[in-house]
Amino acid sequence: MTPPRRCDLHLHSTCSDGTVAPADVVRLAYEAHLEAMALTDHDTFDGVAEAVEAGHRWGVRVLPGVELSLPHVGTFHMIALGVEPTHAAIAGVAATLRDGRGPRNREIVARLRALGMDVTEAEIEAEAGGDVIARPHIARVLVKKGYARDAYDAFDRFLGKGQPCYVDRPRVEVAEAVAAARAAGGVTIVCHPHTLGFKDDASALQFLVTCRDAGVDAVEVRLGTSAPADDRRWESLADRAGLLPSGGSDFHGENKPGVRVGAGRGRLDVGVFARAGQRRATSSLQPLTAPWRPPAALLGRRQLGPWSLPPTERLAASSPRRIRHRPATPTGC
Ligand SMILES: [Zn+2]
Ligand SMILES: [Zn+2]
Repeated sequence: MTPPRRCDLHLHSTCSDGTVAPADVVRLAYEAHLEAMALTDHDTFDGVAEAVEAGHRWGVRVLPGVELSLPHVGTFHMIALGVEPTHAAIAGVAATLRDGRGPRNREIVARLRALGMDVTEAEIEAEAGGDVIARPHIARVLVKKGYARDAYDAFDRFLGKGQPCYVDRPRVEVAEAVAAARAAGGVTIVCHPHTLGFKDDASALQFLVTCRDAGVDAVEVRLGTSAPADDRRWESLADRAGLLPSGGSDFHGENKPGVRVGAGRGRLDVGVFARAGQRRATSSLQPLTAPWRPPAALLGRRQLGPWSLPPTERLAASSPRRIRHRPATPTGC
């Protein structure tokens, strides 16, 4: 019997706060026997070209994606998936959020220093290696310099929300991000809702419904780190809210120990979805019964133009100059 064909729609590389270079994330997807994967770095598409190229080498279909932090009942993370990375609207949203990181990181460093910790922006930039400098990089510096036991400790005491060195980020409204993703030919997915701390199902459902009303398409119900009961809970809530189910490991390499590509902490299982037309039949959790098509094409809601081809082929068909390559850095992107 052929093994089920699976995918992982939430993966990070060294281009944001992961520790594995984009091409190596694809190799790990291949080794995990995945049919398809999405590279969803925070605020950047910088790893997409390398990942797509590696996807050709390894025979893994790579969907371009980006994970955005948006304000809505606090802050939540949303993936724009299957988007054209060079489209001005989605590239602009990512740039707004990315550019906001500089002032934020400076303020975090100032607050750490005010608490007596000897850390500098230069050390954090060196730790990050790439353009996107995020709190996990700051946490690693704090651990290296002995100010925190591990990254969790650094977040719990200094960097996490509500802690003395937490600094908010610039805002892009949900509706604006959804419109940008749609304009760029993609779909949008609420990430890891179980981390948002809803006190009960009613408030969780209300959140999902407001996301749906803002145009969001799907929500992650299969996660790399959640318990089976959590998955069932979010599957049911997604269904009630009228959102499609999605899933992924949220792999970050060493920055999220124990979480593996395609497997999370060992039980992630997201089947590649395939059938166009009927909404329920397009669940990312259903086994593959037909050739891969990008998620948005499956929703039966919109015509996606260039994305009607499988993503890797479409990107290959586009002008190579449209994908900007950056010079290599020690972290590979
Ligand atoms: Zn996230
Ligand atoms: Zn993520």
